[in-house]
Amino acid sequence: MTTPISKNDVIALIEEHDIRTVQIGYADIQGVMRGKYIPARFFVESIDKGVAFCVVALGWDIQCMIVNGLDFSSWANGFPDMLAKPDLSTFHILPWREKTAFVICNLVTEHGDPFVYSPRYILEQVVEQAKASGFTPFMASELEFYLLREDARTPLYGGVQCYNVYKGGEAEFFLGELRESMAKMGIYIEASNTEYGPAQFEVNIRYSDAVDCADKAMVFKNGTKELARNHGLYATFMSKPWYVESGNGYHCHQSLWDLEGKKNLFEGSGHEMNDVMKNYLGGLLKYARDLQALAAWSINAYKRVAEYSYAPTRINWGEDNRTTGARAIMGGTASRLEYRVGAAEANPYLYLAANLAAGLEGINSKLSPPEKIVGDGYAEGTGELLCTSLDQAVSFFEKSKLPKNYFGEKFVDAYVTICKHELDEARKFVSEWERERYLEFT
Ligand code: ADP
Repeated sequence: MTTPISKNDVIALIEEHDIRTVQIGYADIQGVMRGKYIPARFFVESIDKGVAFCVVALGWDIQCMIVNGLDFSSWANGFPDMLAKPDLSTFHILPWREKTAFVICNLVTEHGDPFVYSPRYILEQVVEQAKASGFTPFMASELEFYLLREDARTPLYGGVQCYNVYKGGEAEFFLGELRESMAKMGIYIEASNTEYGPAQFEVNIRYSDAVDCADKAMVFKNGTKELARNHGLYATFMSKPWYVESGNGYHCHQSLWDLEGKKNLFEGSGHEMNDVMKNYLGGLLKYARDLQALAAWSINAYKRVAEYSYAPTRINWGEDNRTTGARAIMGGTASRLEYRVGAAEANPYLYLAANLAAGLEGINSKLSPPEKIVGDGYAEGTGELLCTSLDQAVSFFEKSKLPKNYFGEKFVDAYVTICKHELDEARKFVSEWERERYLEFT
């Protein structure tokens, strides 16, 4: 997606494709694409000056309920504006909507300073640190989602048919269009397949530099939902929609390359990890719990952390091992680490920023990973347990120095406040499960 283009190029594209509307978007803190639909002529005017948004767009939860206790967005500060400035390198014609284009925006304050709560800005800052140390991070998103019928509750088909080609064929009317549409936007899906839940699918998006990778994941998630609606369906990246079925994960493949992006610096000899990869893995695992709140922000996501579910439960790693928190793939230029802790709901910018910050810290402090796990990574004694609740994860996040050092105190305070709001909302709610369990017998 990131081919630098000028304002004149964008105007030419708008004319050539008879674009009437430009969707502008950015990720809020919980990873929802927020934005506006703008008539093309007004979009052109806004390229330099930006589009005003009330700061509350980053100061509410997924249901647009205002989060109290945020400095930047409150009744006390009167909810001022922030500006969304289009990053023209992300401008694309939208394949699934007529005469419509799409662009990702950077958020700045009314005075033009970076908006330090913007997830894209947070990732950009960590990438800057990587570059200053001589690294170009390459990352890839592996995402799972369910397709639901018009009722937004029932999977498109029943039964688990993982990798079943016939069942995949039944969903090709959607997946085929999804892969094609994404490719037109430069988002290359290397493969899609039916997954381990009813009408659950997985896609592997081709790796690219970190910010581009997060942009692509954002556009992919939002686009999958839009395209599903065009077919009368719903797509959900909810982390654990059903107790008995597989959760939706977000695995992040990652490697560090030289500044020119020509040489994979994780490339060791044979099955030996080199020091860069080893130290990066050491950081990734050491800070797994400290940063888990960025890999999973809802109370629901922690229900995905279940033994023998392919979602990891322990802080461990193995070579090509899908039972561990991290999977190391040692193989020439394809050498990489697959971090498996993330939930599909995760904000791609913040999840990638967390992975990268932990890895860089590992390199800076020359951290060694624990012993490699051969075989069952769920077994007793194979590593400390990951957090199993948002409550626990937030408390690790709040106490850790690493998030403050890499993401800034203001962002960390805001993120903690938003997570605590999420916990509070969940705590107050009385569920059907509670009524089933207690109403008659107490
Ligand atoms: P799965 O876990 O589904 O079996 P794979 O192990 O085949 O997936 O990994 C494929 C993913 O790894 C793709 O998204 C691909 O683009 C990505 N990938 C390949 N090489 C690298 C690399 N050097 N750095 C980061 N990601 C990479």
